[in-house]
Amino acid sequence: MIIILKQGTRPEDTENLRRLVTSHGIIIQDIVGETTSMIGLAGDTSQLSEDDFVRFECVERIIRVKESYKLAGRSFHPDDSVFDIAGRKVGGGNFAVIAGPCSVETEEQILSVARDVAAAGAKFMRGGAFKPRTSPYAFSGLGLDGLELLKLARAKTGLPIVTEIMSSEYLEQFEADVDVIQIGARNMQNFTLLRQVGALKKPVLLKRGLSSTLDELLMAAEHVMAGGTRDVILCERGIRTFETATRNTLDLSAVPVLKQKTHLPIIIDPSHATGYWHLVEPMALAATACGADGLIIEVHNHPEAALCDGAQSVTPQVFKKIMGKVEKIREAIA
Ligand code: PEP
Ligand code: MN
Repeated sequence: MIIILKQGTRPEDTENLRRLVTSHGIIIQDIVGETTSMIGLAGDTSQLSEDDFVRFECVERIIRVKESYKLAGRSFHPDDSVFDIAGRKVGGGNFAVIAGPCSVETEEQILSVARDVAAAGAKFMRGGAFKPRTSPYAFSGLGLDGLELLKLARAKTGLPIVTEIMSSEYLEQFEADVDVIQIGARNMQNFTLLRQVGALKKPVLLKRGLSSTLDELLMAAEHVMAGGTRDVILCERGIRTFETATRNTLDLSAVPVLKQKTHLPIIIDPSHATGYWHLVEPMALAATACGADGLIIEVHNHPEAALCDGAQSVTPQVFKKIMGKVEKIREAIA
């Protein structure tokens, strides 16, 4: 539900109306346009009817919003969101590349890769400390030691950290140490975790579930936002189809479709989408060309020896080449 306010309405004129709305447990989102001011209501508005608002002087008219993702949807927030994360802008034309290994393995590895990706122009570094693995016997990350190594790499390079949280056990550590908390594809519908991470009010990178629709991705973002944070970056990382030539099928149409539906930034992960390092470049370029707000790319200094996802990891040299081409595409479409 959106309440359009009469022109000239001052914030103090809406106090009683806000009290009524919040007494129903509904979240208020102010929408300030150039000529009109509106109030967006997110939550269960079925308990309220147009008649509840006629007594308020300041109300011009009421619009019911069809989509269920009120906070994530464009209706309440027509302009693209731009986040300032540790001094780096994301969204609204600010292209952000996140790069680094699938998993943090050693001090030497993470420092070397972080330095190389920083020099090539990455805005953030990635590196898993807690890894969701299909096999219970596969390397599942260094845990809190991995987080310490990421902090060391941040101190040496200045690159903010993007890393995945897998359970609520480490919420405090992530709140204290991580710049962007990643929620992986396998946890996209772990609604308890979504709410708990949202309540930290820290930036979140939310990856699309393996077999999730875009509306389900947006509803997951809505859960995070209802928890408290507003800074949610969406990530398309390939979906499961009948095709087996690639690890997943990269759904690039997700970019223009999501751009219509949401104000949140959308980035592409060509590494997990394809599963092969030589497919990362063409898909990264295609993602840039179709309007993605950024990329997340796995980079390893010795992909052949990587403990996780080596086949899809590019070397720092290849990453640098991709960055140069991405820049050219950006100039071409500007
Ligand atoms: C990852 O980014 O390392 C990862 C596990 O990705 P996804 O959740 O998309 O599979
Ligand atoms: Mn990986």
